[in-house]
Amino acid sequence: MKSIAVLTSGGDAPGMNAAIRAVVRTGIDKGWTVFGVRNGYAGLVADNIKPLGRRDVGGIMQLGGTMLGSARCMEFKIEEGRRKALRTLNQHQIEALVVIGGNGSQMGACALSQMGFPVVGVASTIDNDLYGSDTTIGVDTALNIALEAIDRLKTTASSLQRAFLIEVMGRDCGYLALMAGIAGGAEAVVIPEVEADPEAIASDLRAAYERGKPHALVVVSEGAHYNAAGLMGYFEEHREQLGFDVRATILGHVQRGGIPGAFDRLLATRLGAAATDVLERGEHGVLVGDIKDDIATTLLTEVIANKKPLPVHMLELARILAK
Ligand code: ADP
Repeated sequence: MKSIAVLTSGGDAPGMNAAIRAVVRTGIDKGWTVFGVRNGYAGLVADNIKPLGRRDVGGIMQLGGTMLGSARCMEFKIEEGRRKALRTLNQHQIEALVVIGGNGSQMGACALSQMGFPVVGVASTIDNDLYGSDTTIGVDTALNIALEAIDRLKTTASSLQRAFLIEVMGRDCGYLALMAGIAGGAEAVVIPEVEADPEAIASDLRAAYERGKPHALVVVSEGAHYNAAGLMGYFEEHREQLGFDVRATILGHVQRGGIPGAFDRLLATRLGAAATDVLERGEHGVLVGDIKDDIATTLLTEVIANKKPLPVHMLELARILAK
C-alpha cells in the first residue's frame, strides 16, 4: 500500500478532527501518502483532494467540526456519481479510503466497497445509532453540551416556577434525549422509539408541581412525534392541567459545535489509528468501532443491515428517578 485517502461525511461530530489527525499521522508513519478529501463524497466526485502532511493536521484536535469539511452529496447515491468518485481515486493512484461518519456515510462506504474499492469506515455520529460501535465519536461531547444547557435552564426554571421542554438532536434515535434526560434529572423523556402520551406527561408535570417542585424538565428528541413543537401545541391547549408555565428550547446545532471532550478525542484517536492498522493487514469493507471498550471491526454490509438497539428499559428508570 502506498496511498490512502480520508474523508468526513454527513453530520459533523466533535472529535472528527482527532480521527483525521490519527489517520493521517499513523498512515504517514506506515510510509503511505494520505490524501484529504474536501466535503465528503462531494470532494471525491469533484476531485477536490490533496495530500496532507503531519503539520497539516496540527492544532485541529481541540476544534469541533471537521477541517476537511463535510457534505451531503446526492450524486454519490447513484452509481454514476460513485463511478466519478472511483475515477478520482484511480487518477491519484489511491488504493484505499477511510470514511469517518454515521449511518448514511457508511451506506455510501458500503456501496463503494461493493464496487470493488477497499474502504474502511470509522464510527462517528452524535446520534449513537450506528451498529458496530457501542459509542460513536461525538456522542459524549454532544451529551455534555445538552447537559450544560439543561443545568442552566433548570436554574432559570426554578426562579420562575416554570417547566421547560428541551429538544435535543436525534432524527430517528432517542439516545441523546434518553441519556441527557437521565443525567439531567428530567421529569419526562420523549423519544422516537416509544409512543408518548402527552396527557400522561401533563399529569407527571402536574404531580411535580403539586409536590412543590420549583421546576420541571421534559427532554424530547427532535424526531419524536411529540417533539418540542408537538408537545407545546398540546400543552397550550391544556394549560390548566400543568400548574407550571411552560417554555420550549430547541438546542439544535449547538450540540454539534462543542470543543471535543477528552473521551471523544481519545475514542477518535483510537478508531482513526485502528483504521490504518486494519488496512495494513489487508482487511477492508468493514467499520471500525468500539465494542466493550475494545477495537472491533464489523462488515459494512452487516452495519447497514442492522439497527442498533436503544436501551429502552432506561426510559422506565428515568420515570422512577423523576418521582
Ligand atoms: P450521516 O453519515 O450523518 O448519517 P447522511 O445520511 O446525510 O449522513 O449521509 C451522508 C452522505 O452519504 C450522503 O449525502 C450521501 O452522499 C452518502 N449516502 C447516504 N446514503 C447512501 C446510499 N444508500 N448509497 C450511497 N451513498 C449514500
